[in-house]
Amino acid sequence: MFPGGGGPTGTVRRRSGSISSEVPAMLRDRLDGLLAEEPEHPEPNETFSRSAYDRSPLTLRRFLAPFKWVLIGCVGLVIVETVAMRIGPLLTQLAIDEGMGLKDLGSGQVSGSRSTLVAIFLAYLGFIVVAVLVSRWRTLWTGIVGERLLYTLRVRVFSHLQRLSQDFFSRQKKGTLISRMTNDIEHLQGLLHDGLAQLLVQGLTLVVLGAQLFWFSAQLALISFLVVVPAMAVLTWWFRGVSARGYLAVRDRMAEVLTHLSESLSGSRVVAAHNRQQRNVADHDDVTRRYREANFYTARIAAIYGPGSEVVGRLTVVVVLLLGGWMVLRGDMNVGELAGFLLAITTFFAPMQQMAQLYNAYQQGQAGITKLRQLLATEVSVVEEPHAYPLPDINGQVTLDRVTFGYDPDKPVLQDVSLEIPPGETIALVGPTGAGKSTIAKLVTRAYDPTSGRVLLDGHDLRDVRFDSLHKRMAVVPQEPFLFSMSLRDNIAFARPGADDVEVERTARAVGLGDFLDRSPEGIHTVVHERGASLSAGERQLVALARALFAEPRVLVLDEATSSLDLRTERQVERALEVVRAYRTAIIIAHRLSTAKRADRVAIVDDGRIIEIGTHDELVARGGRYAEMYATWDG
Ligand code: ADP
Repeated sequence: MFPGGGGPTGTVRRRSGSISSEVPAMLRDRLDGLLAEEPEHPEPNETFSRSAYDRSPLTLRRFLAPFKWVLIGCVGLVIVETVAMRIGPLLTQLAIDEGMGLKDLGSGQVSGSRSTLVAIFLAYLGFIVVAVLVSRWRTLWTGIVGERLLYTLRVRVFSHLQRLSQDFFSRQKKGTLISRMTNDIEHLQGLLHDGLAQLLVQGLTLVVLGAQLFWFSAQLALISFLVVVPAMAVLTWWFRGVSARGYLAVRDRMAEVLTHLSESLSGSRVVAAHNRQQRNVADHDDVTRRYREANFYTARIAAIYGPGSEVVGRLTVVVVLLLGGWMVLRGDMNVGELAGFLLAITTFFAPMQQMAQLYNAYQQGQAGITKLRQLLATEVSVVEEPHAYPLPDINGQVTLDRVTFGYDPDKPVLQDVSLEIPPGETIALVGPTGAGKSTIAKLVTRAYDPTSGRVLLDGHDLRDVRFDSLHKRMAVVPQEPFLFSMSLRDNIAFARPGADDVEVERTARAVGLGDFLDRSPEGIHTVVHERGASLSAGERQLVALARALFAEPRVLVLDEATSSLDLRTERQVERALEVVRAYRTAIIIAHRLSTAKRADRVAIVDDGRIIEIGTHDELVARGGRYAEMYATWDG
């Protein structure tokens, strides 16, 4: 498809017209043919909701339910396919006994018939054609159903990840989550694409072949089963058990490798700064080696099972040849029946082996489902109440009303904190590390809910209002601003992607990105590398501030960057901050007292409480903790 294509058919046609006028006539037809075959990609109609979503536990059965009729159709096709595919031994027997007339060898009569032979040949051919056609349709159908299911699942898991609260992400490793989305879904893919259908095909093959064996000679079939079945059963049972454990280990090790990889990549700057490369390589060597060991193990057991079952199979054929030969000599069996029997029994083992392996795939798929089910069952801890209403226009008054909170409810981090921030005020939170400043900020943006007490915005309890309306009125600038790998424009217009470029550029210049834009040939369309690695720390801050400004929030929550900016950049960022916080309520976690000094009021947070609050001058005059800190800093 052409870049950006994928609109409704009309768009595609129009595009084809405009392109066709520029291409030679010879290519035009081929191009039109190609476009006619291009699949349409309608706009995804996935709606995202934080409260109303499918909470039913994920089970294979419920998952397959919407495709019940297609699947039943597939089962029908599988039956036809298997019978047509495995009818060979019976036809061979008929060809020998009836066609060649070797039925009554004992009595010395040979009464063949050419027309019977030709009829059997034609029937055989017919079955092959049917088997191939049906197999094609069945594979196509199961493939399509499988892909549709996987698509649904991927979107569902991703939506859930978007919905989950911050506490989840602070507990979970990113690599493990990525492994859920890649490995676990991939295992399911194997299963859904062909695995389940193959399990059925092979199971039915066993039935069809088994029935023919009994048809040819019940006695011989019973004897072979007495030899083969116990030996194969023991072998297969053993293999199934150890390989299930083996594959589980493989998957866990893979998740470890991914976790290590993603952490090393995300933290590449820290790694470089602390010379951890060598140690990191050693660590990666370690996890990769364990992954390799796990794979070795599965390879070893497969190397026992494969040849093992092969030997059982060959031995059975030899035994059947001996016993069957005797039976033919005694006149208990026809030559054709023995030939058919031998054909059937040699093909009898492959489906058994396949079933054992497919059973593993099935188990892996089940394990994948289990893990995804756990993930999907993770409750969103900060929920939108069903009665939540959209926040009306607000002035931006923030109130903490006797708030107590702990990440672990038994260990409160904030204790009985009350704070009133009038609209338009800038308040600086100051205090030692771990005092609870960021926690206050997280509660104000409702990343978490207080254990007791209330957080209010213009008198509205945050728990009563809709998330989207709340987040429209608030902007957060984290200490390490996160930039996405897209253009500067898209990074700034993050809250309102549809805004026009002029407005974005004006915002960028307002925070002081003018010099940068003038220097870059592509201006606001300059693409930022992942996490903004191509920008300086100061520029990243400015982009983050521009993003906050562009969202036009009433309340701004800002964690001041501690990274040492040079004096000039620091001034620039400070000026940008003045622009952004003007006329808004701003809560700034201040790491520099120069910032605190410029705020309207300063709150000193210590050990989960606000111990002092007032203007800079008041606090200095009071001679308390702030005055002490200020004296040290000023000195
Ligand atoms: P500050 O911003 O003042 O440095 P924080 O509000 O970040 O302090 O942290 C307050 C306390 O809460 C600290 O003891 C910290 O270890 C703990 N804490 C912070 N975030 C989490 C979290 N996601 N899970 C558990 N404990 C946390």
